[in-house]
Amino acid sequence: VQLAEKIHKEFKHPFIVMDMSYHLGISIGIITGPEGCSSPQQFLEKADMAMFKAKQDGRSQYVLFDKEIEKERNQRLSLEHYLHNALESNEISLCYQPKLHLATEKIVSVEALARWHQTELGMVNTEAFISLAEETGLINEIGQWILRKSCYQFMDWLDKDISLESIAVNVSARQLASKGFTKIVESALQETGIPAHCLDLEITESAFINDTHALTKELNQLHELGVTISIDDFGKEYSSLNYLKKIPFDLIKIDREFIMDLDKDQRDEHIGKVIIDIGHTLGKKIVAEGIESIDQRNILRRLNCDFGQGYLFSRPLTDIEFLEYAARYIEQRDDTINSTSSA
Ligand code: C2E
Ligand code: MG
Ligand code: MG
Repeated sequence: VQLAEKIHKEFKHPFIVMDMSYHLGISIGIITGPEGCSSPQQFLEKADMAMFKAKQDGRSQYVLFDKEIEKERNQRLSLEHYLHNALESNEISLCYQPKLHLATEKIVSVEALARWHQTELGMVNTEAFISLAEETGLINEIGQWILRKSCYQFMDWLDKDISLESIAVNVSARQLASKGFTKIVESALQETGIPAHCLDLEITESAFINDTHALTKELNQLHELGVTISIDDFGKEYSSLNYLKKIPFDLIKIDREFIMDLDKDQRDEHIGKVIIDIGHTLGKKIVAEGIESIDQRNILRRLNCDFGQGYLFSRPLTDIEFLEYAARYIEQRDDTINSTSSA
C-alpha cells in the first residue's frame, strides 16, 4: 500500500515529452498471501482482478484483492456468457412506452426498451445488461436486432390501423461509433419499409462528451437519411452545451432527475424552463421523461413542454399490451368526440 501510494504521488506530476506536458492516470491492483493460488499465473490473475476493479471504480486508485472481487468477476463472466447466447435463445424482447403530446394527450410515438429474461436468472436489469453489452461489444449485434424489430413492429401496427408519428430506438455511443452504423440504419429502413422520418434515434447526451468530431460526421449522415435524432437524458451528465451547435438533432429529452421533484423543488421548475426555452429557441421539440404525477404534468404543460412520457400515462408495455392500450385510448377519444358533438 505504501508503495502504491508512492507511485500515485509520482504520477500526480505531469510527464514532459518534447516540451509537451502529459498527465497519466494509474490504476493498481494489489494481492498479498497465497490467496488459494497454486501458480504464479493464478496469483497475477487475481491481482489483475483488483486492478480491473480499481479502473471500474473510477481509475487512478489502488484496490486490494478480496474474495468479493473474485465473486463479482465470476458473476460478470457468467452473465457475459449468457449474454452471448441471449439473442439466439430468444431471451431478448422489447417493451414499448408511449410518448404523448402533452397539451392533447394524443399518443404520438413509442420508445422501444429492451428486456432480457434469462432462463436461469430471470429478468436482468436493463441498464446493467446494456452496459455489459456495450463493454463486450455485443451491443452492435443486439442493437441491430432491436433496430430491425422496432421498425417491423411500427409497420405491423400501421397495418393494424395504429398510426403513430414515429418509433424511438435507443442507440448507444458504441453503436454510433461502430463502423458503418449509418449503412445499418439505411438497410433497416429498406428492409422494413418504415419511412425514414418515422424512425427516431435516441442518443444519450454522454455520447457527445468525447470525440464529437467523428460522431458529428456519423450523425450528419444519419440525419441526411431523414431519421430524427433525440438527445436522451439531457442535463444528467456534466457536459458543455457547445455540442448543441455542432450536432444535428430534432428533440431534447429532459432527464427524469429534473422531473422527479418538479412539483416539490422550484429549482427543478426553473431548470426545466431554461431547457425548454433553449430547445424552443433552437427550433427543437422537448420531451419530458419520467412523469409520474398530475402536478408534474401540469407544470410541464404550463412550461410549454411539447411531449411527455412516464408512468402517469403508461409503463413500458409488451406489443400486445400496447395494442390494447392504443385501442382503449382511441375508444375513449371517440367517446369524447361523440359526446362533444352530441352536446
Ligand atoms: P432511457 O432511454 O432514458 O429510458 C427511460 C427509462 O426510464 C426506462 O428504463 C423506463 O422504463 C424508465 N421510465 C419511464 N418512465 C418512468 C417513470 O415515470 N418513472 C420511472 N421511475 N422510470 C420510468 P429501462 O427500460 O430500465 O431502461 C434504462 C435505460 O437503458 C434506458 O434509459 C436506455 O438508456 C437503456 N436502454 C433501454 N433499452 C435500450 C436499447 O434497446 N438500446 C440501448 N442502447 N439502450 C437501451
Ligand atoms: Mg431513451
Ligand atoms: Mg432517458
